Amino acid sequence: MLHRRTTFGLATGMIMILVVMRPVYIEIYSAEEYTITDSWQMAKSELESHSIVENELIEPSEFQETDEDNFNATPVRISACGDLLMMKRALDQGISKGFRSLWKKTVPYFKASDISFLQFEGVASDRLVSWPPNFNMVHTTSTPKGFNYPTKVLDDLSKFVDVFSTANNHAFDRGFPGVASTIATIKKTGSLHTGTRVIKANVTGNYMDWYTVVTRNDRRIAFIACTGFVNNNPIVGYRVKTNDSRIRRSILHCDSAVHVVETIAARGDIDAIIAAPHMGTEFSSVPAEKQIEIAKALLDAGAVVTIGNHVHMVQPMEKYKTKDGRLTAIIYALGNFAGGMIGTDPVLTKSSALAFIDLAWNNKNVAHVTNVKYLPLCEARDNFIMEVLPAIQSTTCRREYAHVLKIIGQTGFVEPILPEEVLSYQPN
Ligand SMILES: [Zn+2]
Repeated sequence: MLHRRTTFGLATGMIMILVVMRPVYIEIYSAEEYTITDSWQMAKSELESHSIVENELIEPSEFQETDEDNFNATPVRISACGDLLMMKRALDQGISKGFRSLWKKTVPYFKASDISFLQFEGVASDRLVSWPPNFNMVHTTSTPKGFNYPTKVLDDLSKFVDVFSTANNHAFDRGFPGVASTIATIKKTGSLHTGTRVIKANVTGNYMDWYTVVTRNDRRIAFIACTGFVNNNPIVGYRVKTNDSRIRRSILHCDSAVHVVETIAARGDIDAIIAAPHMGTEFSSVPAEKQIEIAKALLDAGAVVTIGNHVHMVQPMEKYKTKDGRLTAIIYALGNFAGGMIGTDPVLTKSSALAFIDLAWNNKNVAHVTNVKYLPLCEARDNFIMEVLPAIQSTTCRREYAHVLKIIGQTGFVEPILPEEVLSYQPN
């Protein structure tokens, strides 16, 4: 509608917006010294006046509880970030300046963990697959054309990501050939994937392909990933329906994931299970009922942490004591890691977090979560160049930083971590 306004009308409107916005901005963000404590207090006061989640506000504190368990084994630290879902501007920058230009400043933080995990949303293929012949764009970035990126994206990501989730609603944007191409590309890089598989005629209830195992510090850690649904995209030449049997054999649905976790837990040769459900209500800061239900069911089935995503925003974290007494954690959503998404409020879609989850094993060799911290990230946009970086390192990211603290920090058991503190961790 902007083009219908007169210049005068537009200018008057802008001035009015500034007049309305300015006092709020000064009140919240005028601190000269922008420290963790200050920003926590700012987020706290903002939250008290504009409550998004009705949880009781608790000061940050340590996750670990004192109990009879003695965690004397070497811990394993897992890092996990938001979704990678790339819009046109991110794709264009990646193609012209290299995909590394989007996230190179965050790479050291992923490396300061034992295992790093990312949800790769979309398809990686350099061929025209499952597409009408008259449509000649291989790489596309929106529905209904589908999200299909150059395989180079995965070449770059795999330099700091150990395990990719490929289970998400955009996994079938290029049909079955797209799923196969994404998996083949990840395998070629040497990283691992979980959540989708190339179906074989003889796959009958074999859960081997529904998880992948990483060994660190002599611990075998299984990752599984699932999706709540897949997008119905008739253009790919195969009408994708969530409950189609071919689809269900190719991508793990979250309603089946609980059984998969139970099966892995019963094996006896796995030391911890990480489950990544891709589901929830897009652009919501509050976890949906189904998200909460699935996360708790996955943990009760044997997982030690759930790492959710899909909603393009950060959501709170929660600690959860399972029915068998394990201390576990739920990470509902970590936002958009990178990708240039502009929602109704860019602050919300540019804010994300890199979570660090410490696992330790007690005397009975049972895995618990002993600590969860997070590094608030921000997709800074300067002169049309996008770059993801720790939010505390850029004065242009103050609102994003406060937002992440407001949503994640309020839950009390997790606290933000400073960039230098992340880097002091020595991976096993
Ligand atoms: Zn999604």
